Amino acid sequence: MHTSDIVVVGAGLVGSALAWGLSRLDQKVTILDEGDQTLRASRGNFGLVWVQGKGAGLSDYARWSLRSATQWPELASALTAQTGVDVALQQKGGLSLALSEDDLQSKVKNLEWLRGEVGAPYDFEVLDNKALKELVPSIGPTIPGATYSPMDGHVNPLKLFLALHRAMHHQGVSLHSNAAVERIERKGGLFICHTAAGKFAAKKVVLAAGLANKKLAQHVDIHAPVEPNRGQVLITERLPTFLNFPTNYVRQTDEGTVQLGDSLEDVGYNDGTTTPVLQNIAQRAVRCFPILANTRVVRSWAALRIMSPDGFPIYQESSSMPGAFLVTCHSGVTLAANHALTLAPWIAGDQKPEAIQAFTANRFNAARTSPLGEEHAH
Ligand SMILES: Cc1cc2nc3c(=O)[nH]c(=O)nc-3n(C[C@H](O)[C@H](O)[C@H](O)COP(=O)(O)OP(=O)(O)OC[C@H]3O[C@@H](n4cnc5c(N)ncnc54)[C@H](O)[C@@H]3O)c2cc1C
Repeated sequence: MHTSDIVVVGAGLVGSALAWGLSRLDQKVTILDEGDQTLRASRGNFGLVWVQGKGAGLSDYARWSLRSATQWPELASALTAQTGVDVALQQKGGLSLALSEDDLQSKVKNLEWLRGEVGAPYDFEVLDNKALKELVPSIGPTIPGATYSPMDGHVNPLKLFLALHRAMHHQGVSLHSNAAVERIERKGGLFICHTAAGKFAAKKVVLAAGLANKKLAQHVDIHAPVEPNRGQVLITERLPTFLNFPTNYVRQTDEGTVQLGDSLEDVGYNDGTTTPVLQNIAQRAVRCFPILANTRVVRSWAALRIMSPDGFPIYQESSSMPGAFLVTCHSGVTLAANHALTLAPWIAGDQKPEAIQAFTANRFNAARTSPLGEEHAH
């Protein structure tokens, strides 16, 4: 039997950020992962570190996203210092492009409400097409405007994944791939994770297995009502820089390629692509940036978001089995800094941060849900 202080289940962006954060607090950490062929939102996302618009109906989530964006430079520089990997963090602001006047008005209404709730640090500007063109000369003539927020940015999510894995290794985290946890039992004050690769025991266990948390959480008496939501994405050939800000539909990566996204589809566990949806994404991107009309698409894929019923994270310690934690969210890129720098200390033994009190699993007992909206996408 392998033993450690903490076993983290799932080596996606959430589990890796936590495992790395925990190892920096002198915890002996083991991380167990099912393997490369499994569902992995961490490899299929849009790379935004995004704040504007998040938290409609629950401003704690806006504060939580803002806090992570603010902590991101610390995360990025710690990862680079430890691994040499530059995750290409850029936080020059982001644009939420509107496709109609109504769309623009509804974005502004939401942002005004959020600024009223969060206060001064919550910053945005409303741009009409002319003002937008000054910022982004390549914007299409039929885009009525956008909201710009200096709070937003983006990273290279695959480099982030690589950096977290290298950093975990550097910190002595023991990673076991092809070690899907099948069962968790509590025995003699320890949690024992049963896998085909053996048994792994620890005083604490953290469930960070994405969509698999729904079933795994039952073993430690936590309610994890997460469901898949599909997003399809396209990527183009490399282009000279034409877009200096990430937007909600199009972003130019640090490598010059252009990522076009994304859809929101309720199709269960189907992670295949479909031509009509990809066509819509491409057409919308060309409407936003006509320069893309003759650009070659080199790749497309779909990945499944991990959505709770209200779209907000679930951070829960089991009340009947203390020491067992559930950590799941739909914005694992944006929240990576919080997970590594704020949640890890809580799991290691610090008091539960005030900032996460709203994100318990218990809220779903009261059937308080809001429909999945566009602002939940990233
Ligand atoms: C199209 C799309 C666009 C997105 N865009 C953004 C964005 O711009 N910004 C942002 O912040 N977020 C974005 N996201 C969300 C982000 O990608 C996810 O929040 C994040 O990747 C979730 O990471 P995770 O580790 O929870 O899950 P996953 O990446 O799914 O990882 C779960 C891991 O658990 C492992 N596992 C599963 N079952 C078991 C088991 N029984 N035992 C052991 N291991 C197991 C799997 O092997 C896997 O490695 C996007 C997602 C999608 C799909």
